[in-house]
Amino acid sequence: MASIFSRIIAGEIPSYRIAEDERYYAFLDINPLAPGHTLVVPKKEVDYLFDVDDETLSGLLPFAKKVGRAIEKTVPCERIGLTVIGLEVPHAHVHLIPINGIHDMDFSKAKLDMAPERMEALAAKIRSALAGES
Ligand code: AMP
Repeated sequence: MASIFSRIIAGEIPSYRIAEDERYYAFLDINPLAPGHTLVVPKKEVDYLFDVDDETLSGLLPFAKKVGRAIEKTVPCERIGLTVIGLEVPHAHVHLIPINGIHDMDFSKAKLDMAPERMEALAAKIRSALAGES
């Protein structure tokens, strides 16, 4: 069965899309640690990041970097933290999280409950930053 991320990529399940190209898809995490918390996913479905082929892996970081730069322009933060967990969804992905300190990368903390309108508005702002409009 396709992973929930494959179903998002296929448009079967809605997401707060940030960016995509032929190989990668970026969208807001639905249970964010911080506003702007984004997931970057290779479209090719592989469970474990270290099982992703080298070519796909080597393109993942440059794609995530562009997205991270746009998040930085949109969400006030010291920098963007990048991490891999992968315990919940068996489809390789990286987390991009606006941070001001190490505590902002603590996945055991309560997640934010952001209204859908706020999530959509934030996604739109990050997309604009990505397009060089802000
Ligand atoms: P992990 O696999 O441990 O890296 O965690 C998966 C992440 O995906 C969690 O932070 C979830 O909040 C996030 N997530 C799960 N389902 C969705 C969804 N439908 N849309 C956006 N984010 C999701």
